[in-house]
Amino acid sequence: MTTATTGTESRWHELAERVLSGEDASANDARAVLAAPNVELLDVMAAAYRVRHHYFGDSVKLNYLINAKSGICPEDCHYCSQSRISSAEIDRYPMLSADEIAARAERAVELRASTCCIVTAARRPSARELREVSDAVRQVKEKHPELKICACMGLLDDDEAATLRAAGVDRYNHNLNTAESHYEDICTTHTYADRVETVDAVARSGISPCSGVIVGMGESDDELVHVALELRQLKVDSIPVNFLIPIEGTPLHDRPARIDPRVALRVLAMYRFGCPDREIRLSAGREVHFGTLQPLGLYAANAIFVADYLTEQGQAPEQDWQMIEDLGFSVEPLGGPMGSTRPSEHTVASEATIT
Ligand code: SF4
Repeated sequence: MTTATTGTESRWHELAERVLSGEDASANDARAVLAAPNVELLDVMAAAYRVRHHYFGDSVKLNYLINAKSGICPEDCHYCSQSRISSAEIDRYPMLSADEIAARAERAVELRASTCCIVTAARRPSARELREVSDAVRQVKEKHPELKICACMGLLDDDEAATLRAAGVDRYNHNLNTAESHYEDICTTHTYADRVETVDAVARSGISPCSGVIVGMGESDDELVHVALELRQLKVDSIPVNFLIPIEGTPLHDRPARIDPRVALRVLAMYRFGCPDREIRLSAGREVHFGTLQPLGLYAANAIFVADYLTEQGQAPEQDWQMIEDLGFSVEPLGGPMGSTRPSEHTVASEATIT
């Protein structure tokens, strides 16, 4: 028996078909997804789910964050509670030791995360920070060889990337955050080009590049589309899609406290169509902006953070596990493919750390 589809259903499923056949979604396709009327939202999500399911089945990858150095950053990123211009009331502490970082990584395993993200608030890593993180990674890998490690330590050059790769870092995160045309509105201490160069340096080192976006900083739909297509061009393996949490004490504190969750769902679907076989991680702002619609986000995204964010609380891990179970989805086990469906195009094949 064949199932009849309406015009609106077929429009989005036709887009899914094209993407699954290997055609790149165009900027116009991406704009159309963002502009889809609410009455078509479930059709959009169903079509995005076809793509997500094709590449990732029903698996959800959990990432766990360790804030290894908090609130002492000389940069002025306007969204960030850890910047030098932020007066947000957050914990501020210097670099943790390698032993402390390795001890905190135990929590990742307890929470069923398959990737542990070690983050330092910094323009770029100091020699000591590189040493502490490298030592921590070696300790963690010795005890949990299947736990993937993602580092996020700011701008990086080729030598620094090589140091982290030699220590066993699997992935490095450095977000583009927003389009080049909007960059000066959200940061003046480094440039969009600096960020692109770091993503390139990570890729050259053979570490899997992770880079994403923050939605809700006053950007236009065209700028959101631009970042998605730029990330596709940069061939990043993993794309965290963050939704701004406007934090008191930061320059962006007066942005809307809530993004319409239906808008947020369309953004996730746009990223799935635009970067179909890449890990799309529904990241910061999930609880705040998606509210009761969080589960729908996992029809486009295939990864989330479990437990807390860098300076903001997340929901209880038990709620995340229950949500995944209720959807009939499953948590990606330790040693899983790390959210990317094929070996990283940037990883030296003979030394591949992900499969
Ligand atoms: S470089 Fe990172 S830690 Fe520093 S202000 Fe920007 S986002 Fe925050």
